[in-house]
Amino acid sequence: MPPRLRFAPSPTGDLHVGGARTALFNWLYARHHGGQFLLRVEDTDKARSTDESTRAIFEGLHWLGLDWDEDVVYQGANVARHRADAERMVASGHAYRCLCTTAEIEERRRHAVATEGAFKYDRRCDRLDRAEVARRVAAGESSVIRFRVPEGSTGWTDLVHGEISFPNKDIEDFVVLRSDGTPIYNMAVTSDDIAMGITLVMRGDDHISNTPKQIMIYRALDAALPQFAHLPMIHGTDGKKLSKRHGATAVADWQHEGILPQTMVNFLALLGWSPGGEFNEVMAIGELVAAFDASGLLKKASVFDPKKLEWMNGQHLQRMPLAELALLASRKIEAEGLAKAAELTSRAEWFGHLLELLRVRSRTVDDMVRQARPFLAVQVTYDESAAAKVWKEPTEARALLAATRDTLAACTPWSAEVLEPALKGLAEARGIAVGKLFGPMRMALMGEANSPGMIDVLTVFGRDVALARLAAAVVELDRRTGHA
Ligand code: GLU
Repeated sequence: MPPRLRFAPSPTGDLHVGGARTALFNWLYARHHGGQFLLRVEDTDKARSTDESTRAIFEGLHWLGLDWDEDVVYQGANVARHRADAERMVASGHAYRCLCTTAEIEERRRHAVATEGAFKYDRRCDRLDRAEVARRVAAGESSVIRFRVPEGSTGWTDLVHGEISFPNKDIEDFVVLRSDGTPIYNMAVTSDDIAMGITLVMRGDDHISNTPKQIMIYRALDAALPQFAHLPMIHGTDGKKLSKRHGATAVADWQHEGILPQTMVNFLALLGWSPGGEFNEVMAIGELVAAFDASGLLKKASVFDPKKLEWMNGQHLQRMPLAELALLASRKIEAEGLAKAAELTSRAEWFGHLLELLRVRSRTVDDMVRQARPFLAVQVTYDESAAAKVWKEPTEARALLAATRDTLAACTPWSAEVLEPALKGLAEARGIAVGKLFGPMRMALMGEANSPGMIDVLTVFGRDVALARLAAAVVELDRRTGHA
């Protein structure tokens, strides 16, 4: 039987790193084993659930490429079944109606906590005569349904943590249906997981304490138990539970930071899972699907390190097919008003050359676009703080640039094989290292102190633009030295 798994987010906010990791692990497991991955929106809490959040979750999953099988299940649409299942447990004697009011329970709780330190519901309504309870409920008295926790203990073999067992005496007869007929979380989840035929429940380990209650409900409903896997927490680099304090935790925030979906998937996959042995951390989604199995699930909390995420993004940027990269970069370039995407497409070879040059020095597409600016601008803009350093001796810089321009103007063809020895020859003739020529030149061409290698920059600019920028820099330096 192929496994059936589900991701069951409550739509009360963005898709966060933790939720995305849970979704991904369920998806990877399902895809690896040829099973199904289902999506259930747990919207029973009407006050906190929003359509906007549901949309954000869908968008986040789409972006990551986590497709789901079958129609989305909305938990709120299943309340009638949740209720029927709770009633079925009353009929079979696994649950009972409780007439104690919230105020009474609160009062008893306060008293018990003050005198004995802890409160546990004393089952008094379970001892009432059934006919009397039925009569009072029929007369309109409000009631809840409580599960009758049996003796003994409840345990399971967790795919992450191994044997886990809870003594039942620590669990009170918990409410499964509120007085307004709406289900409590554990009731809704179990009823839905049974109805959806879920065979493996994989979720965050903050749910471990719910699992014994859910197992009791499965048994009471005579349903087959699924397997359980509780994923360990994600920490920040300071070892504390990941939260807003650590910066961006919503998947969409990282998307806007220029992180690629394939990076995010790769990075999240390694938060609590490892293929084992020596392995290359940079993995494509297909490799993850092939390698992912429960045996690689880790017990230890994992660390969300944004620096590693960025590094990994750089790695995926290197691996990406050029055409795909060109599409992403040109969209971004157009959005920033630096050039029209169509124009870049018409100069595909040139644009490809530029991207190859920049991608090895970038960690994000945004990074690349920033570095592409001087190559796309009609005119160079000099960064003043860089100019103050590189053109510190303007007279000398001017002389070097004028000579450089003359040397380069004589170069044909405009290729690395010709440009490189020509510049070497110029440096030798002036008795300086060739690197000394590059600082002022870089400023003249790029307007800033950093760039890819000078010969690459010259070939990407091409003869006309390169010579024009060198000439413009000479004029600019004349202006700065008052010789203009
Ligand atoms: N809706 C629950 C949550 O967002 C998940 C329930 C489950 O996976 O069992 O934490």
